[in-house]
Amino acid sequence: MANDIYSVRGRIFDIQKFSVHDGPGIRTIVFLKGCVLRCRWCCNPESQNWEIETMLQNGTKKTIGYDTTVGEVLKTVMQDKPYYRRSGGGMTLSGGESLYQPEFARALLQACRENGINTAIETTLCADWETVASFIPLIDTFLVDIKHMDSAKHREFTTQPNEQIHDNIRALAKAGANIVVRVPVIPSFNDTPAELHAIAQFAYEALGVGEMHILPYHRLGYDKYIGLGRDYPMGDVPSPDKAKMELLRNVCASTGITCHIGG
Ligand code: SF4
Repeated sequence: MANDIYSVRGRIFDIQKFSVHDGPGIRTIVFLKGCVLRCRWCCNPESQNWEIETMLQNGTKKTIGYDTTVGEVLKTVMQDKPYYRRSGGGMTLSGGESLYQPEFARALLQACRENGINTAIETTLCADWETVASFIPLIDTFLVDIKHMDSAKHREFTTQPNEQIHDNIRALAKAGANIVVRVPVIPSFNDTPAELHAIAQFAYEALGVGEMHILPYHRLGYDKYIGLGRDYPMGDVPSPDKAKMELLRNVCASTGITCHIGG
């Protein structure tokens, strides 16, 4: 790691404070721009492209994305240090996909380490193993998506196959990383008991992961697609109801894993 990690530059599009859904305790979420996947259900479509974009929001043009430094981001993250200390919280990297900007992400995490801030990352692990492995010493909690066990279906709905992702999560588990598995529950993609059971079984039996979260599909990203001048890829597909999510939670828990609905 370079000495001057605080001047490393990267591209983000948002910082959200006081989150309680993306890792332990009260957290500040830093959203990095750029992602290699194109999940049909993505609720942050403004995160996907590396380019800085314009999005219409309530009739007003909003610029999405800006270049900044580790030092600048850390200044904002440090403002809530007392809350992290009391709640066991810290900073979570989200996106987009943080591994898309590995140098910036690593430097920011290193800066957190130097300043006593707990770290988490929301990631798809869609990167080469060397990149993933370089994050292990810098992360307290990996929040890792497992979207589908079938690679063809994974590719159909996200544009990427799942082999590399699953190889990475196996290697990450073997390396002893603290992993929480997250599964977006998407109608017409993976919302059957058999599909969720297969993911829970993989997480618990093959990876030894003790905790998973199932996240119901929602349409909150709809207006963003329209604001970006894009079609909404999920059409009129409704969100899974409470009873369906409870059924799927029980199916997952039957494998032995602790399963929660929501983040
Ligand atoms: S991995 Fe996440 S940020 Fe990337 S397209 Fe899928 S849902 Fe969106």
